[in-house]
Amino acid sequence: MPDAARPPRHVLILGGTTEARRLAAALTPEPAGAPGPAPAPECALRVTTSLAGRVAAPRLPAGEVRIGGFGGPEGLARWLREHAVDALIDATHPFADTISHNAALAAATAHVPLLAVRRPGWVPGPGDAWHQVTSLDEAAAALPALGTRVFLTTGRMGLSHFAHLTGLWFLVRSVDAPEPPHPPRMEVLLDRGPFTVEGERALLRAHRIDVLVTKDSGAAATAAKLTAAREAGVPVVVVRRPPVPDGVPVVEEPEAAAEWLRGLFSAADSH
Ligand code: NAP
Repeated sequence: MPDAARPPRHVLILGGTTEARRLAAALTPEPAGAPGPAPAPECALRVTTSLAGRVAAPRLPAGEVRIGGFGGPEGLARWLREHAVDALIDATHPFADTISHNAALAAATAHVPLLAVRRPGWVPGPGDAWHQVTSLDEAAAALPALGTRVFLTTGRMGLSHFAHLTGLWFLVRSVDAPEPPHPPRMEVLLDRGPFTVEGERALLRAHRIDVLVTKDSGAAATAAKLTAAREAGVPVVVVRRPPVPDGVPVVEEPEAAAEWLRGLFSAADSH
């Protein structure tokens, strides 16, 4: 039972993903009778989600929200202490490498338990023509041998890595408009998932795409392009994800993170 005398436990979720929003929703009490998962831990919670502020109009999670960088690992550690955070959940995108490392350092400095939520990566199936690389630079280097009309879905922040490819044409899909440097021959499609196989098929056809570039984000909402590429015999350059920082426990689903919090707080209560 919740202890009325104790202030609520404070959970900080590093967000910017569907998983972070799902976790915030699962931890934030709904009005009685509302649909959706029940709040996980048996104690009062204060849930804050942190967003980097990259997207102009982000989809906002339930609970409290703060926006903007912390100022490196020291800034994050300070924030954890000043806001009496009891648990830190790194539910950032699998490619948001810097903030994940900052989280590991800050959690260790501030002695706050840390858990990472990482959706599983995509796996190639029969008929897929994947070229796996470890960086955007490697992806750019692989492109000229694979095609001339590129569907680039790696986000607007990394476009500079492709800016020197003057002989190729790019269809760039991003949530917000990209800024230079970017490839000279490109069309921008402002959109965000979820995407359907039918829609992706139509895009590949309409733009005569002959190679696709994607990060292995693993998200269901953006997996349709892989199916469409397989069907059309379009090769896919897949940028592999960076590893989670050493020593940080990982779960795949927000529900497992809620379970972890429940275990953490009930163990603390029994001491
Ligand atoms: P990043 O390279 O790992 O982080 C760069 C800096 O941005 C961090 O050092 C931190 O600044 C700030 N930052 C990142 N995530 C933050 C958060 N959730 N709250 C507060 N500050 C944050 O990150 P990124 O790849 O640019 O991604 C930024 C955000 O977009 C992440 O939250 C991520 O979940 C989301 N996102 C990223 C991608 C992707 O492909 N990378 C795709 C979809 C969504 P300080 O050092 O000043 O604290």
